[in-house]
Amino acid sequence: MSFLKKTMALIAVSLFFTGILFSAEYELKVLHTNDHHGHPIAFYDYPSDGQGGLAARATYVAQMRASNKNVLVLDAGDFNTGRPESTFFKAEPDILGYNYIGYDALSMGNHEFDNDWASMQKQIADSKFPWINANIKKNGSTLDNVKPYIIKEYNGFKVAVFGLLTKETVETGNPDYVKGLTFEDEVATAKKLVPELRKKADIVIALVHMGLYDNDLEGSRKLAANVPGIDLIIDGHSHTMIKEPVVVKGIPIVQARHWGLYMGNGTLKIKDGKVVSFNWQLDPINVKNKEGFVGTEYKEDQVLLGKLAPFNEKVTAVLSEVIGTATDVFLNDNTRKEETAIGDIVSDSQEWFMEKMGMDVDFAFQNGGGIRATLPAGTIQKQTVYEILPFDNSIAVITLTGNDVIALFDKAATNIGAGSMPQVSKGVKVTINAETKKVEKLTIDGKPVDPVKNYKIATNSYLAAGGDGYSVFKNGTNYYDSSLMQRDAFIDYVIFLGGKISPKTDGRITIK
Ligand SMILES: [Zn+2]
Repeated sequence: MSFLKKTMALIAVSLFFTGILFSAEYELKVLHTNDHHGHPIAFYDYPSDGQGGLAARATYVAQMRASNKNVLVLDAGDFNTGRPESTFFKAEPDILGYNYIGYDALSMGNHEFDNDWASMQKQIADSKFPWINANIKKNGSTLDNVKPYIIKEYNGFKVAVFGLLTKETVETGNPDYVKGLTFEDEVATAKKLVPELRKKADIVIALVHMGLYDNDLEGSRKLAANVPGIDLIIDGHSHTMIKEPVVVKGIPIVQARHWGLYMGNGTLKIKDGKVVSFNWQLDPINVKNKEGFVGTEYKEDQVLLGKLAPFNEKVTAVLSEVIGTATDVFLNDNTRKEETAIGDIVSDSQEWFMEKMGMDVDFAFQNGGGIRATLPAGTIQKQTVYEILPFDNSIAVITLTGNDVIALFDKAATNIGAGSMPQVSKGVKVTINAETKKVEKLTIDGKPVDPVKNYKIATNSYLAAGGDGYSVFKNGTNYYDSSLMQRDAFIDYVIFLGGKISPKTDGRITIK
């Protein structure tokens, strides 16, 4: 071997070893929640009290930080609106808890538009973690104090996290608060952004609030199917429970149910600036069944619990009053899919209330997604009603022509399984064909709808403004807003019924 050849060989050998020495491997632990929906303090969820809560979540995250070098804590949106101790204070306790836990970013959900602009800006200012979103624009630019993405730098690698919100928010967001905003196409936004982020970081994570559905044409699966270059999609919005990641075109998609009852726990292995493996599981955070804790029990962080307690005390003082008794549980599990006893009584309370006010209402129309909790059997406290109807929506009356009533139910027929699935008061009988998504029969007080007659409908202020895609309400006339919150009408109705209520449905909505 010539000197030159020997030297070349030495160089090659040393380069080879250098390569091994420096092709370091790293690990990133990604923890995530979504659809926290105002559940700061451990709460009742069927069948047990004391589930979830930020104080238990804090302990879980602290344990993860103690045993992992690189940890990223993310939330995929909709932390607003839920239990009274959150909603009363516009999520102040939730933000306090997220700050304490040390979240790295929040991707905006549609319910971040439940409050007015000034309240949102205050929430952003109070958050020690950035709010991210890349596809909502106001006057052509990203929302004030919101970033399209963040880059986190760890020892040895960088991670980009960008946010997207379903453009359906233009329909489902509170019309008063989303007006003037443009929701750009999620796929088009990501196609533009991802190549840019690939140059800036080793890992690209999409933290999105789009929903995980059964096909590649919708929600986060659509994103994975159309946008290459994303390493991981963390999703929210559909409250989906999965046991393992859904993989579309090689991109894993994960979601962690809702209310902080679970935390997604993913581990990304990175080698030579590339993700080489991803492992994921869903960890229950003090979830209980009838027998007790499912999985590990996390002791609540006492410091955080102490900070949250005053919010609970203030609310409890107001809402502990007992208004009646439920002879059995009014389950809310299927209110987006079919007629439910809870949907019936909520709708009846609206019609009853407006009639008490002297208005001759033909029927009441409520969106299933506006009903948020189960009413347990036993004594009913005001607090429970606030959990069932957490939104600050008042009861309104609006007049529609028979033609528009038919259009209203035609729209409703396309929404089985969605938050816009209707619940109606007594007197309405509607048959919906689930396959054709068409109304097959519709009567009001036993009579077919007369296309030219006028109908007075009690509904909530959100739907009356055209929310959930019910733009047909915008054709309405004689709009009257009672300014009374739905939940207060519900409380009055339970008292009017003598305080004793029993769950039953009577065939108002038939789905065939
Ligand atoms: Zn959502």
